[in-house]
Amino acid sequence: MTPDVVVLGAGIAGLTSAIRLAEAGFPVRMLARERPENTVSSVAAALWHPFRAEPPDRVLAWSRASYAVYAAEAADPDSGVIMRPLLELYRHEAPWPSWGEALPDLHRAPPPVGYTTAFAGTVPVIESPIYLARLEARLQAHGIGVEIEDVPSLDALVQPNRLVVVCVGLAARDLLRDDALYPIRGQVVRVTNPGVTRVLLDEGDAEALTYIIPRSADCILGGTTQEGVWDTAPDPAVTDAILARAQRLEPALLDAEVLEVRVGLRPGRTCVRLEAEQQPDGSAVIYNLGHGGSGYTLAWGCADEVVASVQAFAGSRRVV
Ligand SMILES: Cc1cc2nc3c(=O)[nH]c(=O)nc-3n(C[C@H](O)[C@H](O)[C@H](O)COP(=O)(O)OP(=O)(O)OC[C@H]3O[C@@H](n4cnc5c(N)ncnc54)[C@H](O)[C@@H]3O)c2cc1C
Repeated sequence: MTPDVVVLGAGIAGLTSAIRLAEAGFPVRMLARERPENTVSSVAAALWHPFRAEPPDRVLAWSRASYAVYAAEAADPDSGVIMRPLLELYRHEAPWPSWGEALPDLHRAPPPVGYTTAFAGTVPVIESPIYLARLEARLQAHGIGVEIEDVPSLDALVQPNRLVVVCVGLAARDLLRDDALYPIRGQVVRVTNPGVTRVLLDEGDAEALTYIIPRSADCILGGTTQEGVWDTAPDPAVTDAILARAQRLEPALLDAEVLEVRVGLRPGRTCVRLEAEQQPDGSAVIYNLGHGGSGYTLAWGCADEVVASVQAFAGSRRVV
């Protein structure tokens, strides 16, 4: 008998997991406290670029799988995915990235004045508002809607003949008492796009990473990576600093108009938690959370692994 599956969380991890599970033929329900457009996932830029996620070998595999999905989706102009040239700059000698093999055309480039290392390649930029809405529509095509519910504990959800997939991001710190999770505060400034097409990343400063991510109608400028900071109120001084750094890097942005400032708490974790746990009643809980600054970058690879885990469990356990 096919177990039913409850996916908890409607950010990028929950939506992609639910889609892959529905495509694999499982009856899926999705519960979430917040709708997709109110999640951390909606704040993300979002660039395919592994960042603040461990461990390197699994990150490489998940990011490679996700890259393939985004690159294929980008062929559809309405997909919410655009392939953009990337230039990533360091002020020190930087080694070849541990995820480098996942980006087919990544190569070293001549660094501009003031930098020591530069990498270039072509990366997917995922326009989160468009993309999350499209994922939700794909789920609706399978008859699955996001049911708004605050789930204070897994106890009531875990039942025989049911598999629960937990995709609650940073909230797992409370829900599961998972102390390995911590916030990495990110503030971004959304501005008009004065014609910028190249993604620029300046990795010069560990706390104040500078990035320019041009989308179809606007640009996301960042940012901050403040570990352990829970404050989600935008800081005007940080906004000014982000704008100044971005304009120095890309002078065309001097003409850009500020549209919005947002803050999100990345779900930092010592390593991504993607594992299945058998329950005493014979059911199982699968965790897919703690993706740090790489929720989009890893999403499809992780979703495939969730499905494999659910299939293996459903097949071997014969849940009754
Ligand atoms: C400024 C910023 C920039 C970023 N840029 C990038 C980028 O360029 N590329 C990239 O790959 N990643 C980026 N990220 C990281 C990415 O946004 C996250 O890794 C990702 O959004 C995490 O997704 P998630 O689905 O796990 O969690 P979330 O998006 O937080 O979703 C969690 C879901 O769980 C639900 N939930 C939580 N608790 C409960 C409960 N008790 N009951 C019911 N539902 C619950 C929530 O309501 C929500 O629906 C960025 C993040 C930030 C903040």
